[in-house]
Amino acid sequence: MKHSTRGYNQYFVMIIILLLGLVFINSCQKNRVEYTRAALIQDLEAGEVTEVIIHQNRETPTGYLDIDLKTKGDRTLYATDIRELEELVRSYGVEPQVLDVEPEPWFFTSVLPVLIVVIVGVFMFVMMNAQNAGGGNSSRMMNFGKSRARLSVVGEGKITLKDVAGLKEEKEELQEIIDFLREPGKFTRVGARIPKGVLLEGPPGTGKTLLAKAIAGEANVPFFSISGSDFVEMFVGVGASRVRDLFEDAKRHAPCIVFIDEIDAVARRRGTGMGGGHDEREQTLNQLLVEMDGFGVNEGIIVMAATNRVDILDPAILRPGRFDRKVAVGAPDVGGREDILRVHARNKPLSDDVDLKQIAQTTAGFTGADLENLLNEAAINAAKENRVYVAQEDIKKAFIKVGIGTEKKSRIISDKEKKITAYHEAGHAILFHVLPDVGPVYTVSIIPTGIGAAGYTMPLPEKDEMFLTKGKMLQDIMVSLGGRIAEEIIFDDITTGASSDIQKATKVARKMVTRFGMSQNIGVINYDESDDEVFIGRDLAHTRSHSEAIAGEIDKEVKAIIDDCYARAKSIITEHESVLHKAAALLLEREKITRAEFEALF
Ligand code: ADP
Ligand code: MG
Ligand code: ZN
Repeated sequence: MKHSTRGYNQYFVMIIILLLGLVFINSCQKNRVEYTRAALIQDLEAGEVTEVIIHQNRETPTGYLDIDLKTKGDRTLYATDIRELEELVRSYGVEPQVLDVEPEPWFFTSVLPVLIVVIVGVFMFVMMNAQNAGGGNSSRMMNFGKSRARLSVVGEGKITLKDVAGLKEEKEELQEIIDFLREPGKFTRVGARIPKGVLLEGPPGTGKTLLAKAIAGEANVPFFSISGSDFVEMFVGVGASRVRDLFEDAKRHAPCIVFIDEIDAVARRRGTGMGGGHDEREQTLNQLLVEMDGFGVNEGIIVMAATNRVDILDPAILRPGRFDRKVAVGAPDVGGREDILRVHARNKPLSDDVDLKQIAQTTAGFTGADLENLLNEAAINAAKENRVYVAQEDIKKAFIKVGIGTEKKSRIISDKEKKITAYHEAGHAILFHVLPDVGPVYTVSIIPTGIGAAGYTMPLPEKDEMFLTKGKMLQDIMVSLGGRIAEEIIFDDITTGASSDIQKATKVARKMVTRFGMSQNIGVINYDESDDEVFIGRDLAHTRSHSEAIAGEIDKEVKAIIDDCYARAKSIITEHESVLHKAAALLLEREKITRAEFEALF
């Protein structure tokens, strides 16, 4: 620290000297011997003035001017009136010489020097900062190659498997890793080979990072974590040296866990990507593979990595002796969601009306991170209303906020719009209620959401499905079309409000035809090419694998499915037209109705 302070002072002194120098030069130009008007008259009377040179600025003839007097020496008088002075000098018999002077460009005389000083100063400051930021006596510029891994010390506040809710199978799969880290001898004794690398794969927010930390916590070993994007820096060669550094550190601390989060940033399939120029990443990946091959089996280092894009990983990374253990971390099921809610409700006092089980049922598709966010929003809401417990009302509000956008009662919508929305949502709701494999309805609302939906009808799925049946998919399409159908029946006119419904229905129908083999005429063949769309680099030239004739046939099938669903849905809604009217009226009155209120209408 001492060293860097001195460095700081040196530069400071240099800047001051520079500034003083400039001031000095500037003043030298102007500061000749001072002369007054009275002194001039005195000298004229004494007959000592031999020569007068008036430096007159053409731009400002009556303005500022200097006069050089050839007396005993050079003197300058600054005057404001030339003519008066000229006459004064002439009256003593001296003929003044008048020289025209170009005005000095102000930019060069006053702005430029200051500018130079400022630029030099700023440059030095930046340099200094770059050198000092590294801290201690090592400068940061020299330090780019060092690993940025964070070593979390085991001990207080550590995360254990108790903090990871759900994920039962995943935890079981990882149990042997924990056992190994705790007691390596037990495994090496019988010659068992423990995987070097474990790849956690799953959508964002499902708890991969959490799980890796929990394993380190559970086994009580050091945890080195680094994110894949940390490897990819601006200087070539840095990534590779970081990897080397990281593993050197890890070897010293074995047994331990090295966790590489978002490994897809480095371990992308090589030789791909648009525009090339990914040598840096390739070098980093190669170094990683070299390191993983380099340390022996059972050396006590377990490399864990997480990704949500296992499909874009370089296959080399998945070879035996590298990440040969893959653990899929999926979105939680109903039970898992309830467990996760319980974990995050531990430090939040809940009121009696909060039913975590029921929340879990309404949150199909939510990840652990979403659920954590949900409860947090609810707690914030409770705090805003100065309550010391979280009520069901808070959770409802949070649900709408995280799930659908912010509830906006303030937006003014016309009565007509409101009415259309009410019938539209009631149409969805009736189908949810009547059709056996979808729904039941949890809430119906015509309160506009923050993200542009005029209303929503939320189902309450009673179980998570492993796979969809054809019947359920058809019913999903019918439900999607229900809004539009209700509009058509009641208003004899239709709106643009159903566009996302239509899009959804079409998507499902197309998938049924091209992917799931659920149509008669197309048969059980996959024509779905949307798989790798994200991965532009690999197949930039996207080619269709089937003929125009098949494409036409697919379109025909999709249309047939939609048309059929439309007709069936329309007959159901027409059959329950009285409910449609009642539901819409109730919605217009209350803006939002619950399952019980809705079902009472039948
Ligand atoms: P990922 O790494 O898969 O993107 P994280 O592990 O970072 O997800 O999870 C983000 C947050 O979500 C965690 O900090 C935790 O609060 C919450 N979370 C996710 N999954 C779970 C779970 N199974 N149990 C408890 N909390 C979870
Ligand atoms: Mg993560
Ligand atoms: Zn709709």
